[in-house]
Amino acid sequence: MLRCSLCGRQAAYNRRYAGVLLCDRCLVKSVERKFRRSVAEHSLISPSEKIAVAVSGGKDSVSCMHMLADYCGKKNCELVAITVDEGVKGYRGESVRIARENTELLGVPHFVVSFKQAFGVTLDEMVRIAEKKKTGFGPCTYCGVMRRSLLNQAARELGAQKLATAHNLDDEVQTIMLNYIRADFSRLYRLGPAYPAREGFVPRIKPLREVPEKEMALYALLKKINVHLGVCPYAGGIHSEIRDFINRLEENHTNSKFMMLRMFDRMKPQLLGAVPEFDMKKCERCGEPTSSESCKACELLEGLGFAKSVDLKLIPPAHF
Ligand code: SF4
Ligand code: ZN
Repeated sequence: MLRCSLCGRQAAYNRRYAGVLLCDRCLVKSVERKFRRSVAEHSLISPSEKIAVAVSGGKDSVSCMHMLADYCGKKNCELVAITVDEGVKGYRGESVRIARENTELLGVPHFVVSFKQAFGVTLDEMVRIAEKKKTGFGPCTYCGVMRRSLLNQAARELGAQKLATAHNLDDEVQTIMLNYIRADFSRLYRLGPAYPAREGFVPRIKPLREVPEKEMALYALLKKINVHLGVCPYAGGIHSEIRDFINRLEENHTNSKFMMLRMFDRMKPQLLGAVPEFDMKKCERCGEPTSSESCKACELLEGLGFAKSVDLKLIPPAHF
């Protein structure tokens, strides 16, 4: 029998990058320790703050909410959950239901905000129109831009001081790589455990940035947390190629993911000054913060023939 390197119980997981075997209990404890260490090391949360957590219903965001609920309870912080319903038929409905189930279990106030109500159009509809109009943008571009905008607006409206997202190690390394490939210097520069406050933006925090995706999946499984296991029908494209490439690297060269993250974190201070500072403006169409005349969400919506609505309509679960 293979034994846990820490306590000697039966091993359940080979943490190759650290050269240790872990039992179920030690793995769960270790993931929670990583979460707390990230929060402390980067001062992500201060006592008595109001924290909004983005919860899709998937393993990462639901587990993140469970850890935050525990942490916030101890630090006298207030936690609220926000779910964005993009409107993806046969996929999002079930994940919203699971997100709600978990918030009820934890007693966390839960607000749902939908593309349909905010913009008058679902993601499915956006994708169909984009194909017809040949805009050149794929589903994930619309989804990512609109979701970020809605999460920020919802967190701001709820009076949250921080917006927590459940990006794990794999997500972060994939984003670093994607921005290299696209040579998107300003987006690359904004990556990190915390995205600082700027006018109109609720600072974003990523307490799970140092936890590999596989360990997040095991954490949810071992803690018997009910999560949505469905895969978005639009998943694919360059994001999947990068994910597969990085997983292959890790398989053949243990610890590659952490090394890429560490290297990026060490390089980041050197980028200071290399990225031109810009003043925050208000989008001339919707009033949301932006670096140019209109925000990306309004630009994309205009390309589809829609105007962005400013009426957010936060839906508490009872009315959903
Ligand atoms: Fe949105 Fe793309 Fe993720 Fe689907 S795969 S939820 S479209 S970002
Ligand atoms: Zn706008």
